[in-house]
Amino acid sequence: MSTTHLHCPICNFSAHLYDVVDLNKSCAEAMGIHLPISGEPIYYAYCQACGFCYAPTMCAWSLDTFRQKIYNQDYAAIDPDYIEKRPSHNANWLVKLFKDLPKEIQHLDYGGGNGMLSDLLKQAGWDSVSYDPFNLTDTPMQQLGKFDLLTAFEVFEHVPDVEVLMHQLCSLLNENGLIIFSTLVSDGHILPHQRLTWWYASPRNGHISLFSNKALQLCAQKFQFNLASFNDGLHIMFRDQPVWANHLFESS
Ligand SMILES: [Zn+2]
Repeated sequence: MSTTHLHCPICNFSAHLYDVVDLNKSCAEAMGIHLPISGEPIYYAYCQACGFCYAPTMCAWSLDTFRQKIYNQDYAAIDPDYIEKRPSHNANWLVKLFKDLPKEIQHLDYGGGNGMLSDLLKQAGWDSVSYDPFNLTDTPMQQLGKFDLLTAFEVFEHVPDVEVLMHQLCSLLNENGLIIFSTLVSDGHILPHQRLTWWYASPRNGHISLFSNKALQLCAQKFQFNLASFNDGLHIMFRDQPVWANHLFESS
């Protein structure tokens, strides 16, 4: 693989190859589940300016290749929570977080998979829609309209082109809207001149875009968003604080 002409997709600084792992390196290793070595090497590149780390070859894959090698019938085995446990946990968290959400607030769950999170929120009285770019039966994105609240759980680390994702989120968001998203920041886990041993850096899970806190900040700034974080894994982006979400900002 050529090491020349690698440019950080976040800050455009030159990026360098950082490490290589097997395609079957998965997050399940953190739970003691090890897949057999696939023999397919996946290189990760790293930007020393902003700390963004990504897998350039996988980022160039077609949707079909992702469906064939990553989001296939074996995916649930290495990410068992994605079908039911995680959507249900996230729905409960959102309902508690917005317990006085005005009825007119429209919500879209971007990357919603089977739509379970949205279904649970609808049961809780929310006006909610699910959209997943991998789900061919969902209403095309261009026909969805605009929303006050977007959620994107387990999306950012999966996207091959962060800029495309940000443009899509912007096109779906009302002017005073709010984006709540999850991605675990790499601060303290991906450091210069070390091996890529972080459990989250797992090609088999489709984790190809790994953000440092600085890279997230730059990404938000590029699209005129403010960024705030609940913790290392949960964040919000917004331009003006929406009145209905004022309580989120009271303690900050
Ligand atoms: Zn960078």
